[in-house]
Amino acid sequence: MGLIVQKFGGTSVADADRIRNVARIITETYRRGHNVVAVLSAQGDTTDDLIAKAAEINPNASKREMDMLLSTGEQISCSLCAMAIEAMGYPVISLTGWQAGMRTNSTYSNARIKRIATERVLAELDKKAIVIVTGFQGINKYDDITTLGRGGSDTSAVALAAALHADLCQIYTDVDGVYTADPRHVQGARKLEEITFDEMLELATLGAQVLHNRSVEMAKRYNVNLEVISSFSGKPGTKVKEVAKTMEKSHVSGVAKDKNVARLALVGLADQPGIAFKIFSLLAKEHVNVDIILQSIGRNDTKDISFTVSKQDMELARKVLEENAESLGFDRIDFNDQIAKVSIVGAGMINNPGVAAAMFEALYSAGININMISTSEIKVSVLVDINDADRAVQVVHDRFFSDFGVGN
Ligand code: ASP
Ligand code: MG
Repeated sequence: MGLIVQKFGGTSVADADRIRNVARIITETYRRGHNVVAVLSAQGDTTDDLIAKAAEINPNASKREMDMLLSTGEQISCSLCAMAIEAMGYPVISLTGWQAGMRTNSTYSNARIKRIATERVLAELDKKAIVIVTGFQGINKYDDITTLGRGGSDTSAVALAAALHADLCQIYTDVDGVYTADPRHVQGARKLEEITFDEMLELATLGAQVLHNRSVEMAKRYNVNLEVISSFSGKPGTKVKEVAKTMEKSHVSGVAKDKNVARLALVGLADQPGIAFKIFSLLAKEHVNVDIILQSIGRNDTKDISFTVSKQDMELARKVLEENAESLGFDRIDFNDQIAKVSIVGAGMINNPGVAAAMFEALYSAGININMISTSEIKVSVLVDINDADRAVQVVHDRFFSDFGVGN
């Protein structure tokens, strides 16, 4: 007997049948003697539809009003789910973010949870009720509704699990776990039994869509016992934890692809101190997030600096640098948004120097050129032409995960 937080994503609650299915999962858990807190997303495309509705009225609506609007999606799915559970004869109550004590900062549309006042939820659990909480939202110091950013319900669930000291936080979704690569696009992708928080964080940040990356960060910080599982198949999912038992065996846990990348290169900069500082502080001032940075060795008193940003930031980055062309002193800016980032992630690669080479060899054998490379303790990323990206993921995945693969 314990406390379990279960989160259900938009596809899991998309229509009446699916809501009944979720109600069944929740009540089965309850019947086994657990306290259950369920966190729900809005049904299907509700959030997108609400955004479109707002745009019809006012494309520049304030973020405060957007949050007021978007938070209603979760209110619908939660009340409907509570009704389904009522109809099954179980004690249940649905609560909005503010009723559940989710206090956030005031960054409308991308708020951070500051603390959770758990009294109400605990009181309901004490009364033996199943508690259904709206994901994705909270309330700020002005008592205004805030939302946590797209995909934020995962973070609501993990935060509740941490605050309630839950025994388990299950993220129910439309895939049955975390895969070695996107199973819809990569042949031979396998479900992982376990993955570490750090690996999951890298994968989530690198574009694997299973979990909101802030939820993984929070799960790691509070050591929340986390599991990703399908609401349709009923099969065991993937456990996300501090140390995974498979870590020793396999060097690589997953291959990820991110097509939202653009590369800029400043060519012919003076080879003197302070240049990198100037460039990246200009970009930071404009809130441009820079990912991979590469500086060439100086030659004839000049050097080049290349870096990547998200596609939507490319124009802004270019503009800022061009406006400062004189003080920075470069010959020209090259830019390219027809590229993608392909990465391998694995906690086990720290002590295995051959892993990066195995990845490069797989790309070389497929005739795929690498534009840029960056590494961390548990990740190797390369930039490739966007037209090579899918093939790159496949050959790298084959190299590490096919039955004949020797890299793992
Ligand atoms: N409904 C919100 C969204 O679509 C939050 C979530 O689903 O996690 O982004
Ligand atoms: Mg999601």
